[in-house]
Amino acid sequence: MIRRLSMTLLQPRCYLCDMPIDNLQPFLCLLCQQELPYLPHSHCSRCALPQAKNQLQHCNECNEQAPPWQQLITCMSYTLECQYLIKQYKFAQQPQLHRLFSQLLIRTIGNKVIQDHYHLPDALVAIPLHKKRQSKRGYNQAQLVAKELATQLQIPLIAEKKFIRTKNTKAQAQQTARERKDNMHNVFQVTQPISANHIAIIDDVVTTGETMKAACQILFTAGVERIDIWCIARTLAD
Ligand SMILES: [Zn+2]
Ligand SMILES: [Zn+2]
Repeated sequence: MIRRLSMTLLQPRCYLCDMPIDNLQPFLCLLCQQELPYLPHSHCSRCALPQAKNQLQHCNECNEQAPPWQQLITCMSYTLECQYLIKQYKFAQQPQLHRLFSQLLIRTIGNKVIQDHYHLPDALVAIPLHKKRQSKRGYNQAQLVAKELATQLQIPLIAEKKFIRTKNTKAQAQQTARERKDNMHNVFQVTQPISANHIAIIDDVVTTGETMKAACQILFTAGVERIDIWCIARTLAD
């Protein structure tokens, strides 16, 4: 009986619907995994926002004012289910969820390589957290995903100490668009030379893109020539 009880207690449950699941899929049941808010097939390759079928590769906004990065690759739209998972990951001490997000990103990137002949970057780098926030949380959610992707895709990972966050900004969700922009001034610093030409920056969620623009700016100054963004989720409207 103890064995049966401990089996029940130890059996993992789906993060979204709480159904018991097998150990091979330790985070989501198959149904919840199928129903995740995957990005619609037709989207702008530069900002990842959905667009009508048979449109040009880039949306009107990106044609008029292109972001500093070349491609934004993301697995999901930031809907309620996705928000729940990412909040569990960041704020509820569930760092193991990086395995789920890495798995989803690897699948998305693999499809890009096969279908769109996407060129993998020479190196990966995670958006850094300020050291105060990182020591409070105990981990950097972007770094855990970046590490896993670097291992699985065999791409070098730029050391955490080379690209740092010098300003402890407020959580973006609590700010207006204007505040976000002002707040991102001089947030990042490159502390040692970076030799890669083409890199991908990894983050959990891209919202207005202000964090990414600030990161790109400083990395271009350090000599990087091409930047792509890889993120778990993208908010649909700025
Ligand atoms: Zn489920
Ligand atoms: Zn676009």
